[in-house]
Amino acid sequence: MQKMRKSVFPGGVHPTDGSDKALSMDAAVRQYWPDRVTILAEQSFGGRCRLLVQPGDTVEEGQLIGEPEAFMAAPLHASVGGRVLEVGEVLNLGRKVLACTVQREQEHREPEGAYRKEAVDLSGVSREAVLTGLREGGLTGMGGAGFPTHKKYETDKPIDALLINGAECEPYLTCDYRLMLEEGYALVNGVRLLLKGSGAKRAYICLEDNKPKAAENLRRILEEARKSGVMKEDEKVEVTVLPTKYPQGGERQLIQAVTGREVPMGGLPADAGAIVSNVGTARAAADAVLGGMPLIRRIVTVTGCVKEPGNYLVPVGTSAKELVELAGGVTAARNRVIAGGPMTGPCAASDWNGESELFYVTKNTSGILVLPDSAYEEQPCIRCGGCENACPAGLSPWKIDFAFQEEDYDLCEELYASECIACGCCSYICPAKRELSVRTRMARDAVKQRMRERAVKKA
Ligand code: SF4
Ligand code: SF4
Repeated sequence: MQKMRKSVFPGGVHPTDGSDKALSMDAAVRQYWPDRVTILAEQSFGGRCRLLVQPGDTVEEGQLIGEPEAFMAAPLHASVGGRVLEVGEVLNLGRKVLACTVQREQEHREPEGAYRKEAVDLSGVSREAVLTGLREGGLTGMGGAGFPTHKKYETDKPIDALLINGAECEPYLTCDYRLMLEEGYALVNGVRLLLKGSGAKRAYICLEDNKPKAAENLRRILEEARKSGVMKEDEKVEVTVLPTKYPQGGERQLIQAVTGREVPMGGLPADAGAIVSNVGTARAAADAVLGGMPLIRRIVTVTGCVKEPGNYLVPVGTSAKELVELAGGVTAARNRVIAGGPMTGPCAASDWNGESELFYVTKNTSGILVLPDSAYEEQPCIRCGGCENACPAGLSPWKIDFAFQEEDYDLCEELYASECIACGCCSYICPAKRELSVRTRMARDAVKQRMRERAVKKA
């Protein structure tokens, strides 16, 4: 048994006792292939694609339907085979986003291949083949901001550590946990591919100590792969168990906890010699490189105040409304529906009665969470310092909050608002219930925009 590492990142919180995850973690993933999907041309904020299809076109499942026209975009593929009904703007989480709606006319086919049932020999797969698979498969991060995966791996910086993020530290979410239990072989093969793609010496599959069955499953598969000789000596992959603490799965926090290195202010994980990818991304890498299937589906946790919390494997573009209906519908009339987890996910609706559309599943939609509405009013800050102690980025959230509300962006910049990771720890801890993380995130975006504009002027 490997020793558990001590968490070394500062700040953070312990939001729950685990009963929230227990709602959905023991139910096996159910597949759901809807009759219709609405695939957004923008799968992550600012990551737009140019759509290549018109209404009336017939598309095959997995066909390329969108080419990136923004830095944060990855190629987009049809998640179902059928007929394109509409191409136009839809309202999604309060924004109008270009999308195409496809009526499904074909049965979904899961990729077949030994890689989903056993560790396979990867000696014939080159680094270039991995990078091509990541790029052409439209892979993005599946646990955070949805950054295009190939851009992380096509770096000139020396990388020695690959961190595969299975921490799933946010309350309620269990989609990564189920993936680690049910798709362990595809995941391990994907990790080995990403190790090759990164050029790192070692890969660490990182998870928190509240998921012992997943850790055991992955260790068993790795052991089996080593014993069979399929996994070579130079393929160094280990399971790393970390203490349960939010946000253990934040990129910077994970790097610090596992390698002891700090990502410099304003820097990227590659500046600390590391690449971080989610377990879902690793599984998608195996599907793309070994199964010939681009990223068109994912597991989504549907939980909270719904009749049957659980996890669903669904195509990108599935309606969140339909998924909540599948889970038996909401059980609280006063509610808030969150796209993702409770600490970082945006609110999709309040007091939702099940009638209006909520949003559409993207490559990085980890969950649909229905919380009971806890109406409260923000109170004045009492300068308790709680938010400063909890902030894992070492910021002063209350000061940034004041500066932002005064529209003093120079001060926001001096206070390093650009380093906010939007984790929500400050809001969670604040006794005055101040909406700190919403405003620190907006301050971050404003400061980053100013920095970009200055850089353009200089160039
Ligand atoms: S200021 Fe940003 S990084 Fe710090 S706790 Fe709040 S949301 Fe997290
Ligand atoms: S935790 Fe809330 S009350 Fe305390 S300093 Fe921060 S903003 Fe003010």
